[in-house]
Amino acid sequence: MLIPGWLTPRFEKLISRLTAGRLHHGLLLTGPAGIGKQVLANALSNTILCKQRRPQGACGQCQACKLFAAGTHPDMAELTSEKQLGVDAIRQGISRLNATAQLNGNKVLVIPRAEKMTEPAANALLKTLEEPTNNTFILLLTARPQQLLPTIISRCEKHIFPAPASAEALQWLQEQGINDASPALLHAYGGAPFALLESLQQEKGLEYRAFSEGIEALLAGNKDAVTLSSEWQEHAERIVGWLQQYAHSQCVQYPEKASMDLFEACTRARKTLQNPGVNKAMILSCLLAEIKQAR
Ligand SMILES: [Zn+2]
Repeated sequence: MLIPGWLTPRFEKLISRLTAGRLHHGLLLTGPAGIGKQVLANALSNTILCKQRRPQGACGQCQACKLFAAGTHPDMAELTSEKQLGVDAIRQGISRLNATAQLNGNKVLVIPRAEKMTEPAANALLKTLEEPTNNTFILLLTARPQQLLPTIISRCEKHIFPAPASAEALQWLQEQGINDASPALLHAYGGAPFALLESLQQEKGLEYRAFSEGIEALLAGNKDAVTLSSEWQEHAERIVGWLQQYAHSQCVQYPEKASMDLFEACTRARKTLQNPGVNKAMILSCLLAEIKQAR
């Protein structure tokens, strides 16, 4: 995937430092989830490994680029984990970095969700960050830098990426074939276009559509709160999350007491839902009734 416009200037700056031999060996890329940090890290890794680097990035033609595209480059390691990232995984990644580079001399280790590292894992990585081997680059990505060890943060060069401007994000979504994204929907996804794109491309996206259609039907009086609640109770946590995003957008559009009350009611409902055995349909139907009243 091409680097989106809002990341291009930063990307090209990193490339020019790489070319000048001044790219820091430990980079921490932070910013909200879903704004494209992973795409940038991917393109940067590719460029670091490319044998015929250009000011715009990797050539895409050389042997290194072909291996990179196939996911089989021997000097590239990416440690992904949805759960915790333990010390063994980190050690394995580091041992690959310590091996002699097989292609253009550079080696890259990417950790897309750095906050998932356990403390022993982070400490194992710390040693490498303190005493890096030659031509080794470590890219740490996270939306939650506060969950990283301060010693990790202090050993890296920090790059903070903000969410793009709404108009730019919507334009980009259109280029990805999403024509019906609205500023409100983007807002509900924290202004993060990649998060919205992923959501719309997945089953979850269909559910969000079903959700927004359900709310429209509720407000138009074509469906009642009890019917919707019983349809949605299986996904109560997700629905309340969306309702809260909806309530938030209402607070922005109509800063009245009813909007604030709705937002707070969602916060309370999120807490209540954590108790086992609660009547989820009941909680949803109270919230939906409040939404109707708030309008
Ligand atoms: Zn190349």
